[in-house]
Amino acid sequence: MNGGRCWTEIDLSVICENYRIYRDLQPEGRKVMAVVKADAYGHGDRETALALQAAGCTDFAVSNLDEAIRIRRAGVTGQILILGYTPVDRAEELFRHKITQALLSDEYANALAEKGFRVLCQYALDTGMRRIGLCVDEGEACERAIREAAEKLELTGLFTHLCAADTDTPGARAFTKRQIALFEEIAARVADLKLPYVHCMNSAGGLWHESKSSCFARLGIVLYGLKPDYANVLPEGIRPALAWKSVVSMVKTVRTGETVGYGRTYTAPEDRVIATVSCGYADGVNRLLSNRGRVFVNGKAAPIVGRVCMDQFMADVTGIGDVLLGTPVTLIGEGQTADDMAQVLGTIGYEIVCDISPRVERRYVKV
Ligand SMILES: *Cc1c(COP(=O)(O)O)cnc(C)c1O
Repeated sequence: MNGGRCWTEIDLSVICENYRIYRDLQPEGRKVMAVVKADAYGHGDRETALALQAAGCTDFAVSNLDEAIRIRRAGVTGQILILGYTPVDRAEELFRHKITQALLSDEYANALAEKGFRVLCQYALDTGMRRIGLCVDEGEACERAIREAAEKLELTGLFTHLCAADTDTPGARAFTKRQIALFEEIAARVADLKLPYVHCMNSAGGLWHESKSSCFARLGIVLYGLKPDYANVLPEGIRPALAWKSVVSMVKTVRTGETVGYGRTYTAPEDRVIATVSCGYADGVNRLLSNRGRVFVNGKAAPIVGRVCMDQFMADVTGIGDVLLGTPVTLIGEGQTADDMAQVLGTIGYEIVCDISPRVERRYVKV
């Protein structure tokens, strides 16, 4: 039973179920905007967006125009918001595909408007992240810029991004509260424009903070069943939608004192049964997992030994019975989540799933 070399199994019904759980948790008047940037965090943006659309989701966010056009062409009919940079030379494409562009600054807004298309857009406001957006410190200038954009472009909303909403310390909570208050202050200044989309909630914000002025919870990571921060507790019923698997390509005994892999970084302290797994850093297995990470074989943990190679790595399967050519190996799935793997690396689950290479076959679980 050899299922291939290395693949992910994605259960779209889990993403849809997660969506329904979050949708039902939102307060009156707030919808879920599904963030499907970076190929839906490695889950496949077209497949994910179409499944969510069938489940009733009408609003999507991506990071760039190519992602936007791809899901539009796949059949997404609702709102698609680009959260990041689009070269203004592509204004006609934004217009033609009815994609909503984030306005990153007043300089950007003016450059886009000069292209002569009434592009759908929403103004980004910087309430403390210092990444993109109009700085809200100067309320009057901010208001002026928003009104100007509303004249020249098809302005449909305002949004801001919370940068510490996943952290449960008094300092972070106060900062988030202040971000929301600053955002609401600007929104109030231009309330007469009656912009339909005013929103400030990402996954963490939508789960653990309150704002009366957010029409969307922009949910990314939590839709995929992962956590913004390892310490977070997700609502009942939320599950990861992606498993990552490979197979054993060879099993051997490594004798006491022999070493495994490049640089000979692992020495067998006694005779060990070592399996070679057909997946490596070119597939997205982080090389820093060398001698640190683990995978699961027959439901049992097998430590990664030696350095992760480009296309293969070795794992210690001593004491795990019945490991043969073709035995499945779980990198993410039963035994450990992407969040758990990230924890070993000192990073976040987002990076683990986004790093799974396009070389890895995506398989969609049929339901
Ligand atoms: C990526 C992103 C989100 C989604 O973030 P998650 O933490 O994955 O929910 C929301 N809003 C903006 C502006 C983003 O860039």
